[in-house]
Amino acid sequence: MEKVISVCPYCGSGCKLNLLVENGKIVGAEGADGVTNQGELCLKGYYGWDFLNDTKLLTPRLRHPMIRRRRGGEFERVSWDEAVAFVAGKLGEIKREHGPDSIMFTGSSRGTGNESNYIAQKFARAVIGTNNIDCCARVCHGPSVSGLMATLGNGAMSNSICEIEDTDCILVFGYNAADSHPIVARRILKAKQKGAKIIVCDPRYIETARVADLHLQLKNGSNMALVNAFAHVLISEGLYKADFVAEHAEGFEEYKAAVAKYTPEYAAEITGLPAELIRQAIRMYAAAPSATILWGMGVTQWGQAVDVVKGLSSLATLTGNLGRPHVGVGPVRGQNNVQGACDMGALPNTLPGYYDVSDAEARARFAEAWGVDSLPAEKGCSITEVAHRVEAGTLKAYYIFGEDPLQTEPDLGMMRRAFEKLDLIIVQDIFMTKTAMAADVILPATSWGEHENVFSSADRGFQRCYKAIEAPANVKDDWEIYSLIATAMGYPMHYDNAQQIWDELRGLCHLYAGASYDKMAGLGYVQWPCPSEDHPGTPWLYEGYQFDTPSGKAKLFAAEWRPPLEKVDAEYPLGLCTVREVGHYSCRSMTGNCAALQTLADEPGFVQIHPDDAVKYGIADQALVWVASRRGKVITRANHNPRVNAGAVYMTYQWWIGACNELTVDHLDPISKTPELKYCTVRVEPIADQ
Ligand code: SF4
Repeated sequence: MEKVISVCPYCGSGCKLNLLVENGKIVGAEGADGVTNQGELCLKGYYGWDFLNDTKLLTPRLRHPMIRRRRGGEFERVSWDEAVAFVAGKLGEIKREHGPDSIMFTGSSRGTGNESNYIAQKFARAVIGTNNIDCCARVCHGPSVSGLMATLGNGAMSNSICEIEDTDCILVFGYNAADSHPIVARRILKAKQKGAKIIVCDPRYIETARVADLHLQLKNGSNMALVNAFAHVLISEGLYKADFVAEHAEGFEEYKAAVAKYTPEYAAEITGLPAELIRQAIRMYAAAPSATILWGMGVTQWGQAVDVVKGLSSLATLTGNLGRPHVGVGPVRGQNNVQGACDMGALPNTLPGYYDVSDAEARARFAEAWGVDSLPAEKGCSITEVAHRVEAGTLKAYYIFGEDPLQTEPDLGMMRRAFEKLDLIIVQDIFMTKTAMAADVILPATSWGEHENVFSSADRGFQRCYKAIEAPANVKDDWEIYSLIATAMGYPMHYDNAQQIWDELRGLCHLYAGASYDKMAGLGYVQWPCPSEDHPGTPWLYEGYQFDTPSGKAKLFAAEWRPPLEKVDAEYPLGLCTVREVGHYSCRSMTGNCAALQTLADEPGFVQIHPDDAVKYGIADQALVWVASRRGKVITRANHNPRVNAGAVYMTYQWWIGACNELTVDHLDPISKTPELKYCTVRVEPIADQ
């Protein structure tokens, strides 16, 4: 049996594993001694490889290029030559007729590598001439990137996953580590065992709350009020580090004025928390010699997400918890390579290496390297704006690479209507997802395990994955598919392997210049910034308290709290929050095709409801129910759960039937354009005659 080093394709923890290969098939996985996981894996790491055996539990593997000549018709299997010519011809036609910005692209944050994301954005920018490329960070940690860029000058985790266990205090804000990143949850537990204080701010009694010193069960949608109240206590009680702030931060007076009215008593009215608990929590955070803030979708999937990220960053700045080990700000990125898709420039506003598209010098340098006269300077379209641009008639084609927007975007009815109006839908993927079923062209790609690539973990760590098995005969590497189409469109593009692409990227990006394949060989882990061959990488940022902002100082920021868009009323009396489940991942196209994981959760989702609400609305435990919002109605099973707060219900978004995004609302944060997936109002109704 051969052991092939790889990185788990699910969450951003970056767990290194060995794929066990026998007779050309993967037969198992074991934890490898990676930097973040140290030989451990969660159940998805142990059992999440089975989709490569094409178990067809959920959907069949895409094995041949296919074209559908008319909407509603059958897919027709075609040769690669025909598929490439068809796509090149159609994209060229649409570009000529409607301009480059009439075409939208996605990068992919799951299973594919950084090299293919780099090529995807190069195709969009150099071949088509648009910045219309985005990735699932938009519905995930987009606000973390925007918020931290504004306050600290770098949108990533400031410190490393492995540092978490040696911090003295962890403030866990809107982050369910046990379900989202089990290996990070282990670090939190280890920190607890070593004596750290744990503070959890979450409306649900999540697993981490069980080991917490304090659990602040705030009302859904009140994050900003709580963060402002924390700041108010730090300032009014003199708990902040005045010297640090004076020397390394700016904007203190405005910040102090902005949080002045957020006394704990005032915030108590909004958050539903006792004022004294708010004081106790932030005193605990401020008293710790080193403290870390970790957050997840409970912070970012709101209409006021960027403000809250800036507020959390400001708490770390006020208390001097930046620029050294075991402290910092930790947006723990979701999918295994969502950090990488952003690193590679699969974003509408940045080139690879986070050069802003408005940066003329950077554009000129990339244009020269890519052999084009110029690159577009205007920020492109985000994936959450697609439906609106289609509706406005400005977007005509959508090239979707390893994403499933007809499962993962808010208000799926709106998305389906937009898809019907598109002239061309191209899907490049490994499975027949919901989105693939709506495509005009399907381009089948190799999967994780079938190619070599580099991933970025949530803490900026680059790691190599090696090829374990041969791909099906008629599928191609993602970067090769783009290269063939580019060449057919008159832009010759050719690479022999992924390393050539990686080296081209390194040559263009200061942050990654020293992260060579050799340095990442085997179990190697290189955290950017890594600006030169002799640089070891950077486990924690802001050494010497030099922030990456133009002034070199951290910016303090507070904003007025805004409530969620929708309000409960007699017709829709409950707030719906979308959440994760530990056994499945994202749109479930991969985990849904793994026998062991499927066995753990084999029927469409659930709605978690507090027992008091269940009595109030006549909902029996485990009964099938309708959940309805202003946009749609789905069937699912009720789960009485005393861990959730009364007045709110919780659903996972992995399931095709009972897809909670039929219900969610298209309300976006004004800066990051991230949807308010954590709140819309619903009613839950029993189904008669069960
Ligand atoms: Fe590690 Fe995340 Fe994979 Fe689990 S899902 S093994 S925590 S990378």
